Order: sequence, then structure tokens, then C-alpha cells
Amino acid sequence: MPPSFADARCFQHAERPAVARCPACERFYCRECVTEHGGRMICRNCLKDHLDAATSTGPSWRRAAGAWALAGLGWCWMVLIFYWLGQILIRIPSSFHNGVFLE
Ligand SMILES: [Zn+2]
Ligand SMILES: [Zn+2]
Repeated sequence: MPPSFADARCFQHAERPAVARCPACERFYCRECVTEHGGRMICRNCLKDHLDAATSTGPSWRRAAGAWALAGLGWCWMVLIFYWLGQILIRIPSSFHNGVFLE
């Protein structure tokens, strides 16, 4: 019979009831052994691994790529907006000249 969550014990403290299961290593942990990270409960060992991976081995090129992607997206928006403004500016003056603002 697999251990149910109700009678699960902390992986590091056998006497304490588990309150959460780490999604990374799939072990049960007590309140003291888990910590919240990114909206989910994760054990300290996995959090440490996670942070180590994010900081030390975290590829800088990936962050740079993200920045470039963002810049590219921003550039596309700029072009789109300027194009859109251009279209409006092309159309508006004639109606303005013939209309209310300039008589
Ligand atoms: Zn874990
Ligand atoms: Zn514990």
C-alpha cells in the first residue's frame, strides 16, 4: 500500500507529519523543510539546486536572447505603431483642411 499524504512523514524529520510534497524530488516534507518558491512549495534541497542552477550554470546567453527577443518585439511594435500613425496622418489632413480646423 503506498503511503497516503495523511500519514506521510517528513523525509528529514521522521517524527513530524508532512505538510507538503516537493514537486521536484517527490518526497514529503514538514512545514519547516519546505519553502515557497514561485507560488509552489519546494523542499530546501531542491530550492538550493534550483537557485544554483539559475545563478551559476544559468546560461547568460539565454537571458541575452530573452532581452533581444523583447527588443525585437518592441521594435516590431514601434514599426507597427509608426506605420499606423503614418496611415492616420495621411488620411486626416485632407479632412482637417476641408473641415473644421482650417477654413
Ligand atoms: Zn525536493
Ligand atoms: Zn522536516
